[in-house]
Amino acid sequence: MRITCWGSRGSIPTSGKNYVKYGGDTTCIEIRAQSGDIIIIDAGTGIRRLGDQLIKEKCKEHHILFTHAHWDHILGFPFFSPIYVPGNLLHIHSGPFPANYAKNIIARVMHPPNFPVGYGESFMQPQIDFTNKLNNPSHIGSVKICAIPLSHPNGGYGYKFIENNKTFVFITDNELNYHHQGGKGFEDYRQFAANADLFLHDAEYTADEYKKTKKFGHSLYTDALELAIKAKVKRFGLFHINQRRTDAAMDEIVTLCRQEIAQKKIQMDCFAAARDMTFNL
Ligand SMILES: [Zn+2]
Ligand SMILES: [Zn+2]
Repeated sequence: MRITCWGSRGSIPTSGKNYVKYGGDTTCIEIRAQSGDIIIIDAGTGIRRLGDQLIKEKCKEHHILFTHAHWDHILGFPFFSPIYVPGNLLHIHSGPFPANYAKNIIARVMHPPNFPVGYGESFMQPQIDFTNKLNNPSHIGSVKICAIPLSHPNGGYGYKFIENNKTFVFITDNELNYHHQGGKGFEDYRQFAANADLFLHDAEYTADEYKKTKKFGHSLYTDALELAIKAKVKRFGLFHINQRRTDAAMDEIVTLCRQEIAQKKIQMDCFAAARDMTFNL
């Protein structure tokens, strides 16, 4: 698998000189399978640049999977250029959600007067296939996919991708310190992520911020770090970067995490997920 992070910012896109290193685009992750399949997780604003790249490479077929329907994970979809290219085929999977979940997301985000092109206009529709229902576990090409419910307002899913015994676990918008309806507990997430080669987890808040943001659906970075350590993952990336977190502030958090890891004498690579990072598993 080759994994690319096209956006890791949480809640709303950011811009400005203090947000260059980690980037301002919201959630979008691309996985290239050995079978050649392209799997896209979420359609945050990062999907716009991914779309341009796929067109440049003349890729004709893509799979999209959603973690949930909050704005920052869907608002890039109308700007994903491959949906306007004749002959392209886009498989939009509802994953473990009810059958029409993904279709409803697209219909809602592409709807006048919020967007001038309505979903279902004839030039788009024949290219989008909503029929695929992914069971849990399921496969897209050579990649096996498992899902776990998120502890997040309105629910959602985290995913595990496995190919050739290499594992990538992606859990964003997940509050480890509070149980939202339908969510799982710390131990469930630990088991799900156990021994992952690459683990990206929501690490939005500091302890100070969390005094005001408990129940918002996101984790303390220290809780995410504890989960990564207890799950014995090999590489851990802090994800869903707070919209006010400058590059310098994020660097400080990474330094604190690395100090903690060093003190515990653990072999684990820790970083904050930034736009355009790629990982080969
Ligand atoms: Zn989010
Ligand atoms: Zn969310």
